[in-house]
Amino acid sequence: MVNSGFTESLVNQQRGIALKPFILIACIAISSQVYAGKPHQHAAHQHGVATLDVASDGTTLHIALDSPADNLLGFEHAPKTPAQKAELEQLGKQLARATTLLDIPAGCTASAGQVALPAFGKGEHSDVSASYTLSCQALPERLTLQLWQHYPRLNKLTVNLALASGQSRQTLRRGEALALKGK
Ligand SMILES: [Zn+2]
Repeated sequence: MVNSGFTESLVNQQRGIALKPFILIACIAISSQVYAGKPHQHAAHQHGVATLDVASDGTTLHIALDSPADNLLGFEHAPKTPAQKAELEQLGKQLARATTLLDIPAGCTASAGQVALPAFGKGEHSDVSASYTLSCQALPERLTLQLWQHYPRLNKLTVNLALASGQSRQTLRRGEALALKGK
């Protein structure tokens, strides 16, 4: 018992050391995906969590959202009722508007979203993806996300950033904005 505090801190140190190579590998994997232009590899499907990939190309930002359908739709099966069919159609229209995702910063223009609605076929889970291009006069320092307002079932965003300044990963909690500088 006398040693337990010491042992715990030693374990934490070891954990910290063990995690670093993992983070490094993850970053390399992300950057190679972004730069090779390969299709997005799905992250682990976890309800309440979605992934946002943000890559800069000069003063243009490429933004891709990938989310379990449940977060955005409230169900994850083929629509069974007229109401569910309408909700799915509505989701497609909603995600086609970049303003559903974020506030368009001053000096930027956004493309319409390229939306891939879930196929609802294989397995129990389905994902929705949407990608956007934000063309800016200068890269904004932060992005205010509107996703939180539109989708109350969404609690957490894993953001993979690939900017000229380097690659990083941020975890955003409900309501938080995305910082592109100063991280
Ligand atoms: Zn699911």
